[in-house]
Amino acid sequence: MKAALFHGPGDIRVESADRPTLESPTGAIIRVTHTAICGSDLWFYRGDSDRDVPSPVGHEPMGIVEEVGDRVVSVEPGDRVFAPFVISCGQCEYCRKGLHTSCRNGGGWGGDNGGCQGEYIRCPQADGTLVRVPDRYADDERVLRALMPLTDVMGTGHHAAISAGVDAGSTCAVIGDGAVGLCGVLAARRLGAERIIAIGHHEDRLALADDFGATDLVSERGDDAIDRVQELTNGGVTHVLECVGATSSMETAIGISRPGGTVGYVGVPHGMGDGLDLEPFFRANVALRGGVAPVRAYADELMADVLQGTLDPSPVFTKTVDLDGVPEGYRAMDEREAIKVLVKP
Ligand SMILES: [Zn+2]
Ligand SMILES: [Zn+2]
Repeated sequence: MKAALFHGPGDIRVESADRPTLESPTGAIIRVTHTAICGSDLWFYRGDSDRDVPSPVGHEPMGIVEEVGDRVVSVEPGDRVFAPFVISCGQCEYCRKGLHTSCRNGGGWGGDNGGCQGEYIRCPQADGTLVRVPDRYADDERVLRALMPLTDVMGTGHHAAISAGVDAGSTCAVIGDGAVGLCGVLAARRLGAERIIAIGHHEDRLALADDFGATDLVSERGDDAIDRVQELTNGGVTHVLECVGATSSMETAIGISRPGGTVGYVGVPHGMGDGLDLEPFFRANVALRGGVAPVRAYADELMADVLQGTLDPSPVFTKTVDLDGVPEGYRAMDEREAIKVLVKP
């Protein structure tokens, strides 16, 4: 089969690779029909995080089930499925708590399971991981595009909103205008937020935040952004979604929090080498909640909204490539030409 392999910073190649085989009675083999390139893939692409060379890449899968193990009950060959970026069993203490990212029997894509930016992958825990798309929507390309962000960014934006305590009538702010931040705006609107302040630096992305339901757009940086939000809200925001993961964005988060508020953070922390200063959180009684999003826990409720037409995060995909176009897709995301790239192997 063909798969995208990471050969070093800036070097993704589509090459032939071994096709994964079924190795356990709880597993399934999936032929990937849709996948995506993630903002978090750029960390290794830019050399900011380590990764084995060569190694298969991609963690946002959708496809057709080819083969299942004897003990799999929830899917069968021919089913259209998608899956989160983390493999989970659905049975252990943490999966039952909705914390699938801490699954005792879990794992990730890549390695022997194959990367999702390839033709085939193995899911060793099919029942606990795969989400089956109902048959009547299984070949509806518009629906499939709208479901794809549920593999990661939409579930992550939703986790930010839930962690920040967004509810009906609330005022919230979303820091970051990448795919996760934009999905955070959608999630906040879906949860009934009355006022959604989107903070970012790119005009085109803020325009999409506006389409997604943001009521105020803030494009200032640093202290200017904090001042602007303080002014807009007469003293700060109770629910802050931090969707970047940088020291500067966390400083913005605390800077715009209203005393007693909550920051829901989902950006993978990067560059916080000197540590995050907790004192401002302490002084204002601001809670810090969140972490890596257990997107499997949210998949069913978000899929229900996509299928009934009330949720459509697909506009985050601003470029589509085939498998051979994956290296070009990384380049386009790295150079910020594309917000998020959809891949159709
Ligand atoms: Zn991702
Ligand atoms: Zn589990």
